[in-house]
Amino acid sequence: MRTHARVVVIGGGVVGVGTLYHLARKGWTDVCLIERKELTSGSTWHAAGLLPLFNLSYSVGQLHKYSVKLYESLEAETGQHVGFRKVSNIRLARTKDRWDEYMYYKGIADTIGIRVEVLTPDEVKAIWPLCETDGLLGAIRHPDDGYIQPADLTQAMAKGARQRGAEIYRFTTVTGIEQQPDGLWLVKTDKGDITCEHVVSATGNFARKTGAMVGLDIPVIPVEHQYIVTEPHPAIQARHAAGLPEMGVLRESDSAWYMREEAGGLILGPYEKGAPCCYMDGPADDSEYELFQEDLDRLAPHIETAMVRVPAFGEVGVKKVYNGAIAYTPDGSPIVGPAPGLKNFWLNEGHSFGVTASGGAGWQLAEWIVEGEPTIDMGGVDPRRFGPYASRGYLREKNEEAYRNVFTPHYPDEEREAARPLKTSPCYDRMKALGAVFGSVYGWERPNWFAPAGYGIDVASLDKPDVITNHNHPTPDADGTVKEIWSFRRSNYFEHVGNEIRAVTEGVGLQDMTPFAKMLVTGPGARAWLDRILANRIPKQRGRLALSHLLTPSGGVRAEFTVYERAANQFYLVSAGGLERHDHDVLERLLPADGSVNLRPLTTSMGVFVLAGPRSRELLQSLTDTDLSNAAFPWLTGKALSVGTVGVDALRVNFVGELGWELHHPIEMQNRLFDLIIEAGKPLGIRPFGIRAMVSMALEKSYRNMGRELSIEYSAYESALDRFVHPNKGDFIGRDALVAGREKGYPNRFVTLELLDATEADARGSEPILKDGVLVGRCTSGGYGWRTGKSLALAMVRPDLGEVGTELEVTVLGTKHRAVVVPESPFDPDNLRLRA
Ligand SMILES: Cc1cc2nc3c(=O)[nH]c(=O)nc-3n(C[C@H](O)[C@H](O)[C@H](O)COP(=O)(O)OP(=O)(O)OC[C@H]3O[C@@H](n4cnc5c(N)ncnc54)[C@H](O)[C@@H]3O)c2cc1C
Repeated sequence: MRTHARVVVIGGGVVGVGTLYHLARKGWTDVCLIERKELTSGSTWHAAGLLPLFNLSYSVGQLHKYSVKLYESLEAETGQHVGFRKVSNIRLARTKDRWDEYMYYKGIADTIGIRVEVLTPDEVKAIWPLCETDGLLGAIRHPDDGYIQPADLTQAMAKGARQRGAEIYRFTTVTGIEQQPDGLWLVKTDKGDITCEHVVSATGNFARKTGAMVGLDIPVIPVEHQYIVTEPHPAIQARHAAGLPEMGVLRESDSAWYMREEAGGLILGPYEKGAPCCYMDGPADDSEYELFQEDLDRLAPHIETAMVRVPAFGEVGVKKVYNGAIAYTPDGSPIVGPAPGLKNFWLNEGHSFGVTASGGAGWQLAEWIVEGEPTIDMGGVDPRRFGPYASRGYLREKNEEAYRNVFTPHYPDEEREAARPLKTSPCYDRMKALGAVFGSVYGWERPNWFAPAGYGIDVASLDKPDVITNHNHPTPDADGTVKEIWSFRRSNYFEHVGNEIRAVTEGVGLQDMTPFAKMLVTGPGARAWLDRILANRIPKQRGRLALSHLLTPSGGVRAEFTVYERAANQFYLVSAGGLERHDHDVLERLLPADGSVNLRPLTTSMGVFVLAGPRSRELLQSLTDTDLSNAAFPWLTGKALSVGTVGVDALRVNFVGELGWELHHPIEMQNRLFDLIIEAGKPLGIRPFGIRAMVSMALEKSYRNMGRELSIEYSAYESALDRFVHPNKGDFIGRDALVAGREKGYPNRFVTLELLDATEADARGSEPILKDGVLVGRCTSGGYGWRTGKSLALAMVRPDLGEVGTELEVTVLGTKHRAVVVPESPFDPDNLRLRA
């Protein structure tokens, strides 16, 4: 065994081997993989091998698309048969909400370039004659989808990697991993040690055991997953004998199962309620090719619906039931990218569709390792999207929840309930008493909107379609009511959000934004360091605020911070709450080695209130002796002041486009501050407002969001950040690429669109944009703007179509809407209200 390598990949399942293959393809041939048993002996050998392209995440969708394309070519490349059967995949719909979900997905697929066809029930019958079509509204079909033999696929990628010089050591166990003082990693095995630059952990169900070797708490705990294989059925055998094509994969989403042919019989794979987490402490040391005792009772409701939909399924005996461990994460997406806090330690873990994802995940991870950045925005799978709050107990609840929701409709406004409330601001109970309906981000509870006193929808009055995945609202309160119905369209809370916005626009509103990520950057080198890493100028004048972006070397946007110089050599950085670990990790990685800059996370010690609206000055002035006049306290500045007895840093900035302040305060004084503000605000008609109101108001200001309009996939210039980017200020990360890119021209242009005839459903982001029937862009955000009375979207379009007045079409839930490019910031374009 070698003693040195550039990269050591741990784990010889489909995911680890896919990573090794792509590293070798990128030209890093001095790489090896270590597998404790035989290749595929973890989860991979018993996978059903389906390759579902369907995914509502723009990142994961692109990874899956890449995989399927790669798998088609592997046999020709390596000479190894992979058993790829492109038999297509049909997803049935029985409810209107399901149809909306499919149409929403079809929009995403169109923007990614994944083919999706729409079928009538009769067309389903023609392709799948054994399927009864009673009660179906229709279906979608992926013609390029199918299944593969997971073990053969793994062997083919192993062969492709070896052919390029990579080495694979089987029956070798990694027993320890240590980072040396020189930064290199020492990977210890039972057959000897290897020193390397990079380590990739792709250890499937062992993820937490591997993580423990380097002090990482990887948020992966598997769940039991079963599928049933039947004896052959004469009707299927007859089809084969007659030379008819395989019927393909069939998914009854509303009954949470998939089915496909297998050796003349059928496979049924349900995603049932009550499937437990397993391997809580990892599999045993000698575990290989392991299956659990089957539990058919748990599958019974799904089996019954399968027999109704495909009666042939009930006419044959069960040949075998597979019950194996399937790795899960709290949101069901994998963990692909750099491990937080560790240099050159990478994770490719938590795959529940690992056969499907392995190609794409390996491709992007190899780019990240070799080039320093991936080319696809991996935000949806980045390991840093979870924080240290994701404890073992949290994972048990959330991962089981993610599993049982694989087939429930993925409403964009859904708020899952497991493990909540977890992190609460001190004012949580006060907000609740005011009617807050909470959502959750990064473990934090945040008011989404406020329901009027006594408001509730009787669940008995709701339409209850006869489907297993009937799940469009939270668990009812004791009186049988719920506050919200989740939907792809405007839902019950729409008008209440409108009322909040009206209150903020006409008077004053209070919002709790405590989850904001906060960091204090101090030290003699702080200013110079921030200036070197961020694209905006760091304000020279103490107290000035600057919105600053951290770019990738190729000029895309990696992070966004509000920067405020609180005192000499003391900068306070604020960024999105959900990105705390990500944003703070990228800052840490860039710290100079000379110790001249220090970072101090402040997220949990500082609370944040947003006070916004034309009467916010009047209110705040009544509580402080600091002069809040425009001359003394202009827009985009900050100051330390006292609100009553509470010392705060007041920043005159907000995300809603109204006069207002963010009040950053010691978290232990939050309730005192809350009571002071509410009391003083009563005569002014103060109202609390939530995230949904904020999102609508931000949209009307064309404010960009990370992961949407701002992404590593778009240059800062494509996102129209010109006024925040200063190539003339001196060198900063991404500067050269920006300058060069501007000369060459970019493929996208950021625009604001008005949808002219959307009355029931608005864009949400990822809708396709067409001109004369040709795809010319995609929406990145969307919604209804209450102050402008318009359905709006932010979007990326072909540059020649970005002029104001250009007419385009946006497809929302399958319906084409006329859209027109409007000037940026449709509400108060001159920021008069902000500057008031
Ligand atoms: C019943 C069932 C059906 C499924 N069907 C599908 C499907 O149809 N489509 C799909 O895409 N996915 C499916 N999956 C999921 C799929 O099986 C997994 O996502 C995939 O196999 C994960 O691959 P992996 O490489 O991450 O993990 P694994 O295959 O488990 O590989 C991890 C490897 O790491 C090795 N390892 C761990 N620790 C060490 C160490 N210290 N030293 C050396 N080696 C180590 C292990 O021995 C193991 O071989 C299914 C899963 C189940 C349970």
